[in-house]
Amino acid sequence: MTSANLAYHERVKRILPGGVHYNFNMPWEEVPLHFVDGSGSRLTDMDGNEYLDLYARFGAMILGHRNEEYLEALQSAMSRVLCVSHCDFDADALEAMNAHIPCAEMIRFGLSGTEILQAALRLARAYTMRNRFLRFENHYHGNADNVMGGRVVDPRVPTPFDFRGDYRGTAGRADGIMAEQSYMIPWNDIERLEEFFAEYGDTLACVLTEPVAVNGGSIDPAPGFLERVRELCTEHGVVLIFDEMITGMRLGLGGAQQQLGVIPDLATFGKAIGGGGVPVSALVGRREIMRLLESKKVIHAGTYNGYPLGTAAVAATFAILGRDDQRPLRQMRDRVGELQRVLVETATEAGLPLVVQGPAGVAAFHCAGQPLATPAEYGFDVMGKDILLAAALQRHGVLVSSVSRIYPNAQLSDDDLEFFSSRVGKAVAEAKQSIDEIY
Ligand code: PMP
Repeated sequence: MTSANLAYHERVKRILPGGVHYNFNMPWEEVPLHFVDGSGSRLTDMDGNEYLDLYARFGAMILGHRNEEYLEALQSAMSRVLCVSHCDFDADALEAMNAHIPCAEMIRFGLSGTEILQAALRLARAYTMRNRFLRFENHYHGNADNVMGGRVVDPRVPTPFDFRGDYRGTAGRADGIMAEQSYMIPWNDIERLEEFFAEYGDTLACVLTEPVAVNGGSIDPAPGFLERVRELCTEHGVVLIFDEMITGMRLGLGGAQQQLGVIPDLATFGKAIGGGGVPVSALVGRREIMRLLESKKVIHAGTYNGYPLGTAAVAATFAILGRDDQRPLRQMRDRVGELQRVLVETATEAGLPLVVQGPAGVAAFHCAGQPLATPAEYGFDVMGKDILLAAALQRHGVLVSSVSRIYPNAQLSDDDLEFFSSRVGKAVAEAKQSIDEIY
């Protein structure tokens, strides 16, 4: 860490709690890097150091920094109209999403993922006239009291409670809110799912799941798991919600639902949907459910919902990434696949057990001998080693996201692959040394 960045951090920290904008920073990010410039996949900090950005602001930055076409679209929108409730950018954004996302018969916009998830829960409750929802261990659905962290104490009573040491647990949460509203079971366990539905299925408003458990270690659904979730929801009149906040654009413009062929009733999008420069989230779903918003039976509000810069950004992002049958996204995934191959090969040669798992675009590395089968396996042991490697990568100019995720953008180039290849050897060697000392 060099001088200009440290001095700047001291200045900010006097007023900004912890000197950071959120609490999910990693241990080595206690003093965050302050960037002054970005282009393509590269960032430059206040001291002039260059980084390869595979962090992409938690996955949001999908178009790459200073994407000219995107900037032109935003600038053109800004120069026309900035702050009205409805404008003539809306239809392009709505129609693009409607055309690509299988369940998106109707769409509403918001700003953050946290907020739009709560709108989805409200809608599901109103539609079913039931209260409780099911979520899964080690998934993440925003920082609202009712969906964050928690653990089941007695498997016979599958309601989550706060526990000491939960990094997604929080002081100040409304008392009892998780136990009152939700159930929690392990993900990817069909037997447990069936048992659960047999007992509680008829009392559920909805099931909330990431279609790929990206926040739990980038774990793919086990064969038949999501299909069985879909069947059971239909059988018991339960609304199925896919949280596609991360999978949304990164697996293709139709989201994981299109890739996996399992269609939810509602789905939430955010992050990369606005291209990475402006906040936009979206609640999409079947007309029959979304129509409750039309009749004003269910409230969904927000000063900036559907703001011009946001809908212009969504339209531009779909146009840019959708070109030539989504070629930019395919290219991005191919290039990052090569980068991941180099990482695994380098670690193997150095004698560091390492796997990369999950679909390219949202994959994560784990310092483990074999891929994790369920988010419950992503414990402190693996996570600790992963953090050591991520920290070493950062020291050598490669930024990855928390939970050791590798988030490429559409401008990832061959030059970036060379940059990565020239840095990864030293980073892996340092990480291996630290891991050997500690474990
Ligand atoms: N759902 C998922 C799957 C996420 O990964 C996140 C953010 N990490 C959210 C919801 C919350 O989105 P936001 O941070 O925009 O509130």
